[in-house]
Amino acid sequence: MRQLIIIGSGPAGYTAAIYAARANLNPLLIASSVDFGGELMKTTEVENFPGFPEGIMGPDLMTKMQEQAERFGTDIVYDDVVKLELGGEIKRVHLGDGSIQEALAVIYATGSAYRKLGLDDETRLSGYGVSWCATCDGAFFKQKKVAVIGGGDSALEEATFLTRFADVVYLVHRRDQLRASAALQDRAFADPKIEFLWNKEVAHVYGDEKVSGIGLVDNVDGAETTLDLSGMFVAIGADPRTHLIHGQLDLTTEGTIAVDGRSSRTNLPGVFAAGDVIDPSYKQAATAAGSGVVAALDAEHYLAGLPRELRDRVLGVPAAV
Ligand code: NAP
Repeated sequence: MRQLIIIGSGPAGYTAAIYAARANLNPLLIASSVDFGGELMKTTEVENFPGFPEGIMGPDLMTKMQEQAERFGTDIVYDDVVKLELGGEIKRVHLGDGSIQEALAVIYATGSAYRKLGLDDETRLSGYGVSWCATCDGAFFKQKKVAVIGGGDSALEEATFLTRFADVVYLVHRRDQLRASAALQDRAFADPKIEFLWNKEVAHVYGDEKVSGIGLVDNVDGAETTLDLSGMFVAIGADPRTHLIHGQLDLTTEGTIAVDGRSSRTNLPGVFAAGDVIDPSYKQAATAAGSGVVAALDAEHYLAGLPRELRDRVLGVPAAV
């Protein structure tokens, strides 16, 4: 048995692991079998994470965080959590390989999952021209026309990245104002390959075996248009990944895990939450990292307050005679 298990391998999970490992808690971090490293693994240049004045590629940043966590004694398992039992004094984490890991405390830092438009053909053509990751799939669209859907930071980052490959990148947004930060807006507006289509929503995705176009509806005058293109990148935000804790942890009205004030304490003793899964507003790599610090310190404090006999049993310390 462990003192602490951390679920999630984004900036929140790894930062919690760095702090917990340096506090000699020897945490076990469950990193997921496929999506380890979190959303930054699908990002290109990260220019706003402190300490990297020239910027750093998302996957490189996550590799550095992982190395730092391991350097201080974090053990990492690349598997998926399939079930959690968080109620009792001993927390049980069931993994995809059938094993069960136990600990006195858990930090839940599973981040968020990409939103979908909700169109049937979006799902059918996923991987055949419909993508949620320009970094992963952009190179398939050399000298092609593509569209990016959304008006936030992600959409503009994806669109700018795609101009490396595509001839034309349509930025389709449902309003006439972007939500993205000024710096990303300025860069996108200055890019001759990006064409903005305002007040448009995607009503259809066309194509038999791969995407051949999309159907748009103008939500001001109702006009319908078709765009011939080869790829559609959906970048309309993300929702907190909470499916594993439904019925166990309280949620906010926004769907994030409810925590006590500025702490990471959930409604269950010994269960802490950090990163995007508790954050409906900021969702930055740096804020997630800071949230991971809070969770590690809260967990450390909680473990220090447990009965000595219980902790000794977990650590395998022989009982005094
Ligand atoms: P976001 O800020 O929530 O933006 C989502 C965008 O998609 C909005 O423009 C929204 O339109 C649009 N949208 C949502 N649902 C839609 C639907 N069903 N159909 C059409 N459009 C839809 O999400 P995000 O861009 O992924 O960013 C998430 C967070 O990560 C933000 O806090 C952002 O600052 C951060 N982030 C930061 C960076 C960076 O700093 N480099 C990079 C990426 C992300 P409305 O505007 O009309 O609501």
